[in-house]
Amino acid sequence: MSVSPPATACDGHGLCAELFAEWIELDDWGYPIINPAAVPPGLEAHGRRAIKECPKVALRPEAERANDPVAR
Ligand code: SF4
Repeated sequence: MSVSPPATACDGHGLCAELFAEWIELDDWGYPIINPAAVPPGLEAHGRRAIKECPKVALRPEAERANDPVAR
């Protein structure tokens, strides 16, 4: 699993970076910069939590995004 880049719905409040600091940092405006690499199995629970808790539903596991023609 990898974490998708944030969708345009992202409002930059940075909750994802708090929940998954190992993989997500914030830019100068508070928008997430997501490591595009595959998330190691030991961190997947953190990644899935960040995806689930995003208030704008702006993150997804990359495998799901690849199958969504709207998100490509
Ligand atoms: S939690 Fe969601 S809305 Fe908030 S910064 Fe991260 S991707 Fe954007």
